[in-house]
Amino acid sequence: MQRSYVIKPELGKEYPRVSHGKGIYLYDTSGKRYIDGCSGAVTASIGHGVEEIAEAMAEQARKVSFAYRSHFSSEAVEELGAKLAEWAPGELNWSFFVNSGSEATETAQKIAIQYWQEQGRPSKTRMISRWMSYHGITMGALSMSGHVLRRKRFVPLLADYPAISPPYPYRRPDGMSLEQYARLCADELETAILRVGPEQVAAFIAEPVIGASGGAVVPPDGYFQRIREICDKYDVLFIADEVMTGVGRTGEKFGIDHWGVKPDLITLGKGMSAGYTPMAAAMATEKIIDTITRGSGLIMAGHTYSANPQSAAVSLAVLRYVEAHNLVEKAAVQGAYLLRKLRELADESPLIGEARGLGLLCGLEFVKDKRTKEPFPLSRGVAARVISRAFENGLLVYPATGGLEGVAGDSVILSPPLTITTEEIDELVDLLKKSVQRVQEEMR
Ligand code: PLP
Repeated sequence: MQRSYVIKPELGKEYPRVSHGKGIYLYDTSGKRYIDGCSGAVTASIGHGVEEIAEAMAEQARKVSFAYRSHFSSEAVEELGAKLAEWAPGELNWSFFVNSGSEATETAQKIAIQYWQEQGRPSKTRMISRWMSYHGITMGALSMSGHVLRRKRFVPLLADYPAISPPYPYRRPDGMSLEQYARLCADELETAILRVGPEQVAAFIAEPVIGASGGAVVPPDGYFQRIREICDKYDVLFIADEVMTGVGRTGEKFGIDHWGVKPDLITLGKGMSAGYTPMAAAMATEKIIDTITRGSGLIMAGHTYSANPQSAAVSLAVLRYVEAHNLVEKAAVQGAYLLRKLRELADESPLIGEARGLGLLCGLEFVKDKRTKEPFPLSRGVAARVISRAFENGLLVYPATGGLEGVAGDSVILSPPLTITTEEIDELVDLLKKSVQRVQEEMR
């Protein structure tokens, strides 16, 4: 094989070359087949090799792929905006298109800051977020992220934003009810706002279900309702980061829909284009966009590829596909089945402390001692071992470790395409079981 000059995630490691994909399967150039048990990075949510999307892609490319958003709008981008407005809760009718989840969260942050500036409240610039959260890898998004492992090297360069505890039911204080725990965690936001001063705080950002930094941690009922009340009380905007949970992944259109709470801003990415093109969005309410329109009339954000017709056409085709195949409803049904199977696996395995999730966003947390919930030291690389054994066995699993180093255990995410069938889930869980058993033997 010729020498590679591509910088890969692990330098010096040989990666197999992907050849093609169909449905939930990916194939490498040696002919080996893999179940895409995590939709790549929780992205390929309609599965691989969907003909309709390839056609929409080619059709748009024949018309026009790129026209700069300061010169033109396009049919594709207008229709995509309208479709998202139809999908989104409340008055979240406006979309600002970008190319990655990190850009989406930073754009939402900027819109929030501008919203207060335009009303003569320029000191409201700070963000509050949570530990064990992930909002992106660029410096602004990383500043809002409470992912210990990903922040570590850059802490002196990051903005100093306060972070509150995540709702983490598995590790709540002994004897505390979920209701009390929801209140305790949400009320930390009020304490943080008062400590910083409400006139300094622009917005609170949170993932409806914690993803990359914790492995599908679902908050207790009542948590987000209380968060909404606190945000309203202190004039703090609530940004739901739905980059991972949006577009049906959790069995509702948006993750936050499970609790009937209406955010002021929503960010989308990943499943919005299901991996067929880079595409993401920051969505805002009528009230926010009206205020900025009446003020400066300009949102100070955007990238060269923002709202390009090619990506918009692809994303629109993906959303139509999700609707036409009832994939939101399927995610709820198949997700419940997957979670049941994962819980059975957890009951059998001494390594798995908890199986959890919502819809087709599921996770496993590995622990050294199931009774005390003591995590393995990260240096033992338990999740990494499970991921590499699974890879050998032809199953792709996503890492979700290091978000709360020293407190939480190693976690992984199982989030197959929303198109997965019951038989395919059985196949996935069989391969997972085999991989976990192998790691169990190695850890003895
Ligand atoms: N927000 C959330 C909730 C995410 O899960 C991610 C990525 O995992 C991001 C933001 C960043 O998205 P991207 O990797 O596309 O920049």
